[in-house]
Amino acid sequence: MAEKIRNYINGKWVDAARGKTFESRNPADNRDLVGTVADSDATDVDKAVTAARKAFREWSLTPAPHRGEILYRAAELLVKRKKELGELVCREMGKVMPEAMGDVQEAIDMTYYMAGEGRRLSGETVPSELPNKDAKSVRVPIGVVAQITPWNFPIAIPSWKMTPALITGNTVVFKPAEETPVCATRFVEILIEAGLPPGVLNMVHGFGETAGEPMVRHPEVDVVSFTGSNPVGERLAGICGSMHKHFTMETGGKNPIIIMDDANLELAIEGAIWGGFGTSGQRCTAASRLIVHEAVHDRFVKMFSERAALLRVGPGSDKKTEIGPVISEAQYRRILDYIEVGKKEGAKLILGGNALKKGKHANGYFIEPTIFIDVQPKMRIAQEEIFGPVVAVLRARNLREAIDIANDVPFGLSAAIYSQDVNKTAVAERDLNTGLVYINASTIGAEIQLPFGGTKRTGLGPRDAGGRGGALDLYTQWKIIYRDYSGRLQKAQIDKE
Ligand code: NAD
Repeated sequence: MAEKIRNYINGKWVDAARGKTFESRNPADNRDLVGTVADSDATDVDKAVTAARKAFREWSLTPAPHRGEILYRAAELLVKRKKELGELVCREMGKVMPEAMGDVQEAIDMTYYMAGEGRRLSGETVPSELPNKDAKSVRVPIGVVAQITPWNFPIAIPSWKMTPALITGNTVVFKPAEETPVCATRFVEILIEAGLPPGVLNMVHGFGETAGEPMVRHPEVDVVSFTGSNPVGERLAGICGSMHKHFTMETGGKNPIIIMDDANLELAIEGAIWGGFGTSGQRCTAASRLIVHEAVHDRFVKMFSERAALLRVGPGSDKKTEIGPVISEAQYRRILDYIEVGKKEGAKLILGGNALKKGKHANGYFIEPTIFIDVQPKMRIAQEEIFGPVVAVLRARNLREAIDIANDVPFGLSAAIYSQDVNKTAVAERDLNTGLVYINASTIGAEIQLPFGGTKRTGLGPRDAGGRGGALDLYTQWKIIYRDYSGRLQKAQIDKE
């Protein structure tokens, strides 16, 4: 049954002002209509931002531990409803059930973690250079935050963004991906049920240009947090720079796994299969490049392709499925185009390369796990994010060459190395220019208690998720307070002879 999905503005569920809607469909079976969704524009955005601005003062003055109690309740509701939410992620986004449940688990972890921050939002107290004076720093909320998210983690990524913004006392205007609006709505409903007051969290559905960009350009929005593709992120960075808004973006990756000649090959293959084909390659941290030492290259390729050939592609709701559909027709065509590009560039296709169109695949967007070998570092399939089940295998003569190839892309999100030599892994750890580095583990699987994000053109600004240098830095600014209780004018040391 299709749901009617509305905007949530100032504590009320409302249709888009212009009365338009769009559809969200199941990528495994496009006959299945998941939701009919409000197609919003600048008018709806303005109402949502106005509500968020109005709610800001009271929310920012609510003690952070009380804000945390609301998030604890939300986390508990997520735990209770995990299965139902997982099934929705599977239906609307296409993930296989264990991964869909994982998406919800990440939101649970994040919500509990940020709830705890309500009692930890600490600054520093330092000694003053003068007597009878003290000096401290406190985190203060910034104001109205606009959050724009992609479809590939339809509950987890909204939780990365909303929970830190809310715990720190900001109010939020949220535009989820147009591919997964029902998942986003369920998460928002849970936060509301947990007790968020009207206006504190507002959701506006719609498309990037008509709903997302007016949000970014709105003069009453103070902070913009974006996760999605690189060209959109860079465009929004320009707008925010010119309007002096706080901004963060986390975008694409072209994440490598280096497999050295002394690697445990069975382990490396499991990592490469999971990283390359898990979530149908639609993770920003997907292992889309394997850089293999020449001494083990042929053996690795044989074992890897034999293992990949066994992967079962189908609807995520089928327990036997290991690889679900890709998200949309547009993405399906894009991936198939990249496979043609790879062939034309002279890479050798050794597995897959086709769409699956019969039987259980007839009404969805299914693509075979695809492997190219003899890929050269400057080929487009080695440089550009494909975001599908397509893996490029490159050859390297030694560790130095492997690291140079790994770093020779515009992105810098995640990288991994498989080697049993601690000295080699230490060099890789130091020299890989990415935000995340994994040793003897795949490129995917980040944990929420550390910041998540990348270097170079992947990321800009403070990172998502927890820990020092994580999301709290995006949603707060420092206020420095000096209190002089000497009762006389005391000049700072710089103002004395
Ligand atoms: P996308 O850039 O097309 O869309 C992301 C969001 O931006 C959507 O909500 C969309 O409506 C909105 N948007 C599009 N144009 C806009 C505009 N002009 N103004 C404002 N908003 C606009 O990306 P996608 O296809 O949804 O997601 C896939 C991308 O996301 C991949 O590149 C992937 O690597 C990246 N991603 C990155 C991370 C990370 O943390 N680094 C995590 C997940 C996904």
